[in-house]
Amino acid sequence: MEVSIEDKFIFIDGSFGEGGGQILRTSLSLSVILLKPIKIGNIRAKRPKPGLQPQHLACVKACRELTSAETKGEDLHSQELIFVPKRRPPKGTYHFDIGTAGSTSLLFQALLFPLALSEGAKLILEGGTHNPNAPTFHYLEKVYLPVLSHFGLNCKISLDKIGFYPKGGGKIRAVIEKFSPYAMPSFSPGFKPEEVEILSVSSEDLPAHIVERQAKASLQLLSEADIEARVIKERVPSESPGTFLFIWARSQEKRVGFTAFGKKGLPAEKVGESATSAFLEFLKTQTQFDPYLADQLLLPISLFLLKSSQKYINYTTSQITKHLITQAWLIPQFLDKIKIILQGKENEKGEVIIERA
Ligand code: ATP
Repeated sequence: MEVSIEDKFIFIDGSFGEGGGQILRTSLSLSVILLKPIKIGNIRAKRPKPGLQPQHLACVKACRELTSAETKGEDLHSQELIFVPKRRPPKGTYHFDIGTAGSTSLLFQALLFPLALSEGAKLILEGGTHNPNAPTFHYLEKVYLPVLSHFGLNCKISLDKIGFYPKGGGKIRAVIEKFSPYAMPSFSPGFKPEEVEILSVSSEDLPAHIVERQAKASLQLLSEADIEARVIKERVPSESPGTFLFIWARSQEKRVGFTAFGKKGLPAEKVGESATSAFLEFLKTQTQFDPYLADQLLLPISLFLLKSSQKYINYTTSQITKHLITQAWLIPQFLDKIKIILQGKENEKGEVIIERA
């Protein structure tokens, strides 16, 4: 492949800040959206196994297929990638299988804006659907996509089969509509829960009392805080055993969500308590968004600001994470009209301000 005109490339240092897979995914999304060639070095330098793992490779492959891109370094464990997109993603149905329990949610998020800002598309993704340290399918469905819908982004997702580590085998579907510019809403202040739901789930090969005990422990903590919640308990088929409790809440147009996973030796009550106390701790901060949505909103808001007449948008979060700091550093390298200001210290609550020049 010819890669002669180096100054056309955007060069990204994958070791900055969090130094994980998010730098790669966000860079790929922006490369596809802007049709800008990128060169990323030090990929996932701060992870115990640096370089491209199967879930990251699946992301490169998917973006390559969408754009007929030329690539160099698209190999397992590669720490340097050149990606040269050639066309805007056409409308169609795309099917990508990660091949491991790697997160389909993270792959979905990487493809969502490239597809929505092009012609829209249908996606079928296979792999893990409920992974620690990533948004779960239910987080996307109940928190992430409902908040994005307030910006005019319409996407419906469905879960065909749950996929837990280590075998994965999960499958999700998405119908992404073409995004049409929309006035940016501002967010209402604080977070007063108007609707709270607990989802207590386990694979059907585990004893039935697990989902009961997870939910009971969660409800107990909520009632001590005078909060009512709807409860859904499910036992589902899956290739590997797994259990989790997810609690999500709505306050006007805002949503937050907290997940805890079970593991061998950890009492089911602890799973329920862990997700629920994270939610209650969040409420004490009187901020607007959880620490996950705080970083996941940066890319869509930056993109949507460029398409709206509004000059800036701001929101508060219960925690300024390294993921947030890393995204705030990365995005303006692609979108030079966007300025992102973080007010507050790492690991403490703070404010995010996104401005358009
Ligand atoms: P790596 O494989 O390099 O560890 P990764 O590809 O798994 O990295 P990260 O760079 O760690 O990805 O990014 C993880 C993303 O998952 C972040 O956007 C973070 O906000 C999100 N995330 C982590 N935990 C949760 C959670 N409990 N709920 C929702 N989102 C989460």
